[in-house]
Amino acid sequence: MFNRELQTPITELKGVGKETAEHLAALRIQTVYDLMYTFPYRHEDFRLKDLAQTPHNERVTVEARVEREASVMFLGKGKSRLQVQILVGRHLIKAVFFNQTYLKQKLIPGNIVTITGKWDQGRQAINGTHVHFGPKTDQIDFEPVYSLRGNFQQKRFRGFMRQALDTYGDYLVDVLPEAVRTQYQLVDVRTGLEGIHFPQHADHAKQARRRFVFEELFLFQLQIQALRKARRDTEVGTVIKFDNAQLKAFIASLPYELTNAQKRVVNEVCRDLLTPYRMNRLLQGDVGSGKTVVAAITLYAAVTAGYQGALMAPTEILAEQHAENLHAWFAPFNVRVALLSGSVKGKARRELLAQLANGEIDLLIGTHALIQPEVVFHNLGFVITDEQHRFGVEQRRILRDKGENPDVLFMTATPIPRTLSITAFGEMDVSIIDEMPAGRKPIETHWVKKEQFGAVVQKLESELLAGRQAYAICPLIEESDKLDVQNAVEAYEQLREIFRGRFEVGLMHGRLTPAEKDAVMRDFSEGKLHILVSTTVVEVGVNVPNATFMVVYDAERFGLAQLHQLRGRVGRGEHQSYCVLIADPKTDEGKERMLSMTETNDGFKLAQKDLELRGPGDFFGKKQSGLPEFKVADLVHDYRALEVARQTASELVQTDAFWQHEAYAPLRHVLAQSGVLDGERID
Ligand code: ADP
Ligand code: MG
Repeated sequence: MFNRELQTPITELKGVGKETAEHLAALRIQTVYDLMYTFPYRHEDFRLKDLAQTPHNERVTVEARVEREASVMFLGKGKSRLQVQILVGRHLIKAVFFNQTYLKQKLIPGNIVTITGKWDQGRQAINGTHVHFGPKTDQIDFEPVYSLRGNFQQKRFRGFMRQALDTYGDYLVDVLPEAVRTQYQLVDVRTGLEGIHFPQHADHAKQARRRFVFEELFLFQLQIQALRKARRDTEVGTVIKFDNAQLKAFIASLPYELTNAQKRVVNEVCRDLLTPYRMNRLLQGDVGSGKTVVAAITLYAAVTAGYQGALMAPTEILAEQHAENLHAWFAPFNVRVALLSGSVKGKARRELLAQLANGEIDLLIGTHALIQPEVVFHNLGFVITDEQHRFGVEQRRILRDKGENPDVLFMTATPIPRTLSITAFGEMDVSIIDEMPAGRKPIETHWVKKEQFGAVVQKLESELLAGRQAYAICPLIEESDKLDVQNAVEAYEQLREIFRGRFEVGLMHGRLTPAEKDAVMRDFSEGKLHILVSTTVVEVGVNVPNATFMVVYDAERFGLAQLHQLRGRVGRGEHQSYCVLIADPKTDEGKERMLSMTETNDGFKLAQKDLELRGPGDFFGKKQSGLPEFKVADLVHDYRALEVARQTASELVQTDAFWQHEAYAPLRHVLAQSGVLDGERID
């Protein structure tokens, strides 16, 4: 990057022929610059260690004297085992090497050698991986290990690296401005590259890594922040001057006092409404944290300013629930609320659309039906999307485009660890409801083994007898030979058998049409069904406060975030609720997931745990990850660096110096290359 010399093809290096170049190309290395920025995934530690202090199975490097000639045993199929007696200090031990018979000639009794390998305490032997013929003094402490393919040797690769740094190192331009480096005590790029490829000591490598973690996160954040700034500078939003007194009256009329978190978020959203910028905000709040009422309040704000509002939900039943709530809350106020769904047809639909177009409807609630072309607003000022992850980017964009740059709020019940949310949704503002309404009884969660199913049924029955309802959740809908998964159909039949003539059981799964799903869901929410057996389709924000019991079959097959989402279907009413996880996890990770579920009801804590257990890639699932791939940075552990990088980038793009000063030219160059300056969007 930045200058031609660094773009020199890798073939210019001595020793890189056609074949090697192809090999390197497969590692995405074509230029000298690419090579320098190919980082090792770890460093081999060759520091001398004291055997007496080394635990069993740890790697160790020792200086030793060869005591006797090595003996070789042939194991067949060209394999061999070489054993040699060595003296380490006053310790007489063995060193063992596999398939390296040639060492026999080189391990001369009386000579000093340096041997690295795994320490086998029981056998008093080192299972050697490296041997250096001579004392430790003339050998380095740390050696990088690169992920190379085939039989490409580390040593050869390091040779090219040395050559590249020696020949082209002087052309390196540091993208990180000196001011930033000084502020965070980061080494310059040359020192950094030396430190990561040829560390002299542990701290050298550590400082180098620190620098590149920052560089990576900072460059990424810089793009996001520059994009944000560009949008703010060019996009004209709507100033929604709401009526504060009316808003207060509405809040006072609600059946409960808002939690502090709800108040804070209402303020954040209202502040955005007032600004001329177009709001682009994500509201995260755990299941049951009370996002709907925040939506209602802020939509009302838009109405008091003379604008229309829209609330889009992913399912009909959810849209209906919202409409019911809003109807009730707005009854004493002069707000005209309408519900548009697929089942509003014919004349009713035509009338509704006409009223919407001439401004007789203030708030429109609905499903995807909202984004059809014939839905025309009079003056749409504010749009809220509930359970945003259920909609595609395109659907959200169409809804937004139905107004003149309306403000937009996305709500999600999926708590996302902050590192991920500022990475994946960096161009958005984020509001968080991190507090549950008072008096909520925490859901009691238990983890049981399959053999305890009888006890689970007993508990289920006692809840049903008390007039409550229950969910039974299964991972898959069909029998599969390979996976020993209890399927929904089977569970349904079993429970129907158990409760025949006493309680009604319903079945819901992904193969049902939306209308069928809605019908089943409605029967359950109206109490006609007592038990709902379902796959994960039930996950989305449905509110049946009378359901107090959930049993999850094969719970080890679910991720933490999903289990938590599912569990959020109970514990929504006045009664104590229970969640029983039936699971026989085979892995430690699986066991830990089950334990975490029984230990906390806090979605953010579970999300963080999930991130730690599964890593950022799996957290969102492949489909809508939106996460960039980082070479050195690690979103689980480098969160402090991420915060600092974000803050620094966000402040920097606001300064004139950044856009004009020579010192920032390399950074502007990065932005130009990424297309951000042309107004291209990352999303
Ligand atoms: P979610 O954030 O999952 O969408 P809801 O908006 O459905 O949560 O709210 C869950 C339940 O909590 C609803 O019954 C709602 O009326 C109730 N609720 C919301 N806010 C409060 C509050 N401040 N105090 C008491 N109950 C509340
Ligand atoms: Mg909700």
